[in-house]
Amino acid sequence: MSNQIAIIGAGASGLVAAITAAKRGAKVHVYEKNKKIGKKILATGNGRCNVTNKNIELSNYHGLNPSFVNPSLNRFNASTCKAFFGDLGVELVEGQRGRLYPRSLQSSCIVELLVYECKRLGVEFFLECEVKKITKKGDIFSLHVDDKSLHVNRVLVATGGLAMPTLGSCDSGYEFAKSFGHSMVATHPSLVQLVCKEDLKAISGVKVEGSIEVYEDGQNKTYASGDILFTNYGISGSAILDISRVASHSLLYKRALHVKIDLLPEYSKEELKNLLKKRQKHSNGKSVALWLDGFINSKLSKFIEKSLHVKSADELNNKELTKLVYALKNMTLHVNDTKGFKTAEVTAGGVNTDEVNSTTMESKLQAGLYFSGEVLDIDADCGGYNLHWAWASGMSAGKAII
Ligand SMILES: Cc1cc2nc3c(=O)[nH]c(=O)nc-3n(C[C@H](O)[C@H](O)[C@H](O)COP(=O)(O)OP(=O)(O)OC[C@H]3O[C@@H](n4cnc5c(N)ncnc54)[C@H](O)[C@@H]3O)c2cc1C
Repeated sequence: MSNQIAIIGAGASGLVAAITAAKRGAKVHVYEKNKKIGKKILATGNGRCNVTNKNIELSNYHGLNPSFVNPSLNRFNASTCKAFFGDLGVELVEGQRGRLYPRSLQSSCIVELLVYECKRLGVEFFLECEVKKITKKGDIFSLHVDDKSLHVNRVLVATGGLAMPTLGSCDSGYEFAKSFGHSMVATHPSLVQLVCKEDLKAISGVKVEGSIEVYEDGQNKTYASGDILFTNYGISGSAILDISRVASHSLLYKRALHVKIDLLPEYSKEELKNLLKKRQKHSNGKSVALWLDGFINSKLSKFIEKSLHVKSADELNNKELTKLVYALKNMTLHVNDTKGFKTAEVTAGGVNTDEVNSTTMESKLQAGLYFSGEVLDIDADCGGYNLHWAWASGMSAGKAII
């Protein structure tokens, strides 16, 4: 049994850890509860897999102790990541905001090439094999799978977080960690859509290139700009994903949360008011909604007209024009909830990183037990940073575990 390593989870982190350890001569067994390897990787980047980002900074990472990522990111940066996937045969190309994708724009190539490399190096996969419990006697760990116990020297828990359970996510990594005395940082969904109190059915499907500010108990907490999509339940789109970690954290602690959306960030308030005054010269008795059509989406113009209680655009006086500018640049929505782990891309919170060695990823409480990827209390911004953490921490663990 010398140098026998078990990796729980054939996701992004587990696969890179398996390659790294097997390259160094370890006998690696990977246990995966799904029928398929890398099911979540297949779903990433809308099926295109945003593998990493050209600009990886500490500020893209979150958790109680974000600098935990430093040793892994120093060893495995964007260039190392490019070289690692280049060796597998993946050419990375740049999309918006420094995001790197496989040239084929197919996440399937990432899974296939990682699996090919694992198998070439002798890694053995055990699929539809859910590890239920881990125990330890002396130096030997026992993994409990169905009615069998498997004995190994070292274990890497790469079970991911709670986001999108349909892809295999569950809390088993947290349970394993707790059974060895680890503490947890409270989990909440991140990179997730937000549910609003207001009835937005009338503008469902409208998408704007806007900006959004988040207020917790009346205090401004964060800001983002980009796509904002109104839906039956609330708001979605890239700007919403960007602010969702902060919003979701506030909701976890039951804080009052509202957002202010600027539907026309390209104009200052003064510019917008002047423009509307100019447009008023040609209003010719039009309703406010019709007068705004051609300037903003017609569903939005009807929605805003309702809030003004003025029917004709000709009737808008200076005070009402100011009110209209406010409505267009400060659309206020109250956020009740997120869409939850069911649709979230990432889990914030997880195994407390104070209890794990940031260089080796080994538990400080239990020798021979390692953690990597999303199971730890590290999450990141949208843009390839989460997968990068999974690969980088998997590589750190794969190196140290042998
Ligand atoms: C829809 C979607 C799109 C995303 N897009 C991107 C993107 O483009 N770029 C980016 O950077 N990030 C993206 N992410 C986030 C990223 O995919 C994750 O952060 C990353 O996959 C985490 O890797 P991991 O190896 O830690 O966990 P996972 O990839 O979740 O792998 C964990 C594996 O462990 C298995 N497992 C769990 N418990 C057990 C057990 N007890 N026994 C056996 N097996 C078990 C699970 O089935 C799973 O296969 C996306 C996430 C989602 C949901």
